[in-house]
Amino acid sequence: MLVDIMINIQSYGSIRKYGRVVFFSLLTFGIYYFFYLFWLFRDLDEHFKRAFEVEAESYPTKINPPTMIIFLILFPIYPIYVKYQLLHEHIATSNIRGKENCTVAYEAVVVFLVFGICTLGVLPIIHEHRWQKAFNDHILAHKKHAKRKRRKKRDG
Ligand SMILES: [Zn+2]
Repeated sequence: MLVDIMINIQSYGSIRKYGRVVFFSLLTFGIYYFFYLFWLFRDLDEHFKRAFEVEAESYPTKINPPTMIIFLILFPIYPIYVKYQLLHEHIATSNIRGKENCTVAYEAVVVFLVFGICTLGVLPIIHEHRWQKAFNDHILAHKKHAKRKRRKKRDG
């Protein structure tokens, strides 16, 4: 019983709705997006801390959110690269499979640098949406995996 409660408390990251993020970002002239990115870096780090034990062989999503925020101001392409790199490799190497994965990191960098301005940010937003979808899908896969494990434990 106690173990059940502990597993319930243990979350693997937050599921976020990208549409809502875009809406609030437009309302706040982009300030909200800055916060959103900080939360994502935190999500990735939390994911590393909590989920690593069940997927020890996978690419770690270890990240330092404050450092990433400093880079976001000074050299934004770096945190974008890291964000895609960590999630893509993590999902590709994890035994906990969802259906979705995000864009490969170097492709994301090309999209942001080359097509960002000429598509008025539409192409980057599509890729950002895909990133969030992949993360959400992975969190759900973790939850399902934990439930299955719990059931197995209960049935002996
Ligand atoms: Zn994971």
